[in-house]
Amino acid sequence: MSENNGIDYSFEYLMKKINESGKQYDIQKITQAYRLAHEYHSGQKRDSGEDYITHPIAVSCILLELGMDTDTICAGLLHDVVEDTDCTLEELTKQFGEGVALLVDGVTKLRKIPLATREEQTAENVRKILLAMSEDIRVMIIKLSDRLHNMRTLHYRKDEKRRATALETMNIYAPIAHRLGISWIKEELEDLSFLYLDPFAYEEIDRLMNLRKTDRIKFIDSIKSKITERLSHDFDPVPTVEGRVKSNYGIYKKVYRDGKEFDQIYDRYAVRIIVNTVNECYNVLGIIHDVFNPIPNRFKDYISTPKANMYQSLHTTVIGAEGIPFEVQIRTYEMHQTAEYGIAAHWKYKEGITSKSTRDDNRLAWVRQILELQQNADDAEEIVRTIKNDLSSEEIFVFTPKGDMITLPKGATVIDFAYAIHTQVGHRMCGAKVDKKMVSLDYRVKTGQIVEIITSSNPAHGPNRSWLQICRTNEARSKIRSWFKKERREENIFEGRSELEREFRRNYIRIPEAELEDFLSSDMRKHNCDTLDDFFAAIGYGGISVSKLIQHLKDAYNRRIQERHELTEEQIMLRAKEGLKSKSGVVVDEIGDCEIKFAQCCNPLPGDAIIGFVTRGHGISVHKADCQNYLNQKDIPEQRDRWLPVRWADKDDSENESYFKATLDIVANDRIGLLADISVALAEIRIPMHEASARELKNGNANVVVTISVAGIEQLRSVINRLSKIPSVLSVDRCGK
Ligand code: MN
Repeated sequence: MSENNGIDYSFEYLMKKINESGKQYDIQKITQAYRLAHEYHSGQKRDSGEDYITHPIAVSCILLELGMDTDTICAGLLHDVVEDTDCTLEELTKQFGEGVALLVDGVTKLRKIPLATREEQTAENVRKILLAMSEDIRVMIIKLSDRLHNMRTLHYRKDEKRRATALETMNIYAPIAHRLGISWIKEELEDLSFLYLDPFAYEEIDRLMNLRKTDRIKFIDSIKSKITERLSHDFDPVPTVEGRVKSNYGIYKKVYRDGKEFDQIYDRYAVRIIVNTVNECYNVLGIIHDVFNPIPNRFKDYISTPKANMYQSLHTTVIGAEGIPFEVQIRTYEMHQTAEYGIAAHWKYKEGITSKSTRDDNRLAWVRQILELQQNADDAEEIVRTIKNDLSSEEIFVFTPKGDMITLPKGATVIDFAYAIHTQVGHRMCGAKVDKKMVSLDYRVKTGQIVEIITSSNPAHGPNRSWLQICRTNEARSKIRSWFKKERREENIFEGRSELEREFRRNYIRIPEAELEDFLSSDMRKHNCDTLDDFFAAIGYGGISVSKLIQHLKDAYNRRIQERHELTEEQIMLRAKEGLKSKSGVVVDEIGDCEIKFAQCCNPLPGDAIIGFVTRGHGISVHKADCQNYLNQKDIPEQRDRWLPVRWADKDDSENESYFKATLDIVANDRIGLLADISVALAEIRIPMHEASARELKNGNANVVVTISVAGIEQLRSVINRLSKIPSVLSVDRCGK
């Protein structure tokens, strides 16, 4: 089997790709470079058994895809000859000129910097990499292409080699690709590294993604056509609309690192809309928000504030069909080029690298800054720091005084650093120095800094509870918690009790001390706490999270006061965020389980259209939607907000069958025994009768009004039907229509 997914990386293939690129290349020079590489590598094999030359050709194809110039393509073909064969730099200089020779030399030097293991990823080595990159950014682009092809063919290498290479790629090269803005290389490097670093998680995510593959394709296609259809009214030509699925590693980060559920990853699906001008970006955004419902706080404007790597786009998340959220990215074609190809998209190869170029100033500012600063040798340390700062937006690298690198998430404090070194260093910390200066414990460390932790010699010294709020990493947090769990029971009990009381006050929960144990008993059992003190202590050290508990305690409290008929209007409103079902058979969507009564003016029955009114102190009163009282009052300004949408519970929503009162108006030819016949008829079909009254009408007919209980509108119909059959009955009508 070919290592290259069936692509035959021959010189003919490269030539074909060059022709397809439509760009001007020095074919003669490239052919010459190929001949030399072919000659020197002849006889050498890849781990796959294929001729070695396939690798430099594959690398050059990637460089071509990035739009690189002739010299870079040549250097791609020649990138391994100096290191792996007898070919010398002098020979390269003679044949291809200094430009190509320097690029190959740069790549050769990069290869000698050991970075594969965590120990090797020291400040010094990272610094070397960055300095090499700053000499000519094309060196790094060749290196990234080389690494990409090696990662694509990594399964041919020995097992232990694979992990080391994957680790190095994940920690060093993917962040560099990100910083250079070459997003497709960054994503592919991350996904390939992830596959080797955590194959089980990779497979799991792959499985989850494939599980719904057809649905997913259908979903994305339907959004795409809906958007295209809508945009075709306002835009000519119609903007490009592409569907996109998040990379496996992108999902992994959200699931395992951010603790999100698979289904909560809103940007799992994304649609990209590419237009001509910046103005059109905002116009399209308006249309998208018009067609779909946007999710609040998910809009990001990277056009007005581009990311550090020049990335520009508008991002928003909206809800599509069937309530599935998806992300929409809107950008111009130019921004799209930058997003995909980063620095490579704006490199002016034909002109060479000139720091005097005025166009694309901003896009090249970063590179130029490196190039300029680099001439000033005194500032070398500072340059490295600046570059490293930007290397990865999510991670920072700091150093121990001995030079060990510690990787921490952005925003980490010296406390996180201390616990990352060792649990005991964290527990005994009493101060910290950053670059030899004392700092406070909430100091946020930055990439490149050297951090020294000052520890107490007293073995009883321990962390402060406030550190839980200061630290950023779960590691530090859980270590601090476990210390408190062991060491400070009294303090924990006190803290835990106050925290719970605070939360109770915030939610208007008032439980007399004597009833507290009873109220919390099920939670105490659930967390294996025998006494209230155990329970408070567990809250105190963070073993039980009050925020996770509170929702269900609020529900329990509401049930409790409801049983005691103490429901106040405020509490009904308080529950407006919940959403439970009512035993009365009415569901108030925005409100939890609460007292429901049926308005006497219209006595609604299941099946009727209904509306709820929040009464003062007596729960919700349910009216028929066509009730005259409702129609008269619904627009009174001070009451408008008290009318709420309510609906009948589905059959399986309500646990118990409920009954409703209905009043019937019966007209009959008056006769003896009429009322008795009506009672008997109702008794036969087991309908309870609460009230009955009869009177004589002016025309001699009798009018009987009975109030009965029925289970719903169906049953009421059959009652009416039954009563209509009683001899001499002329009409049976429901009152309050
Ligand atoms: Mn190579």
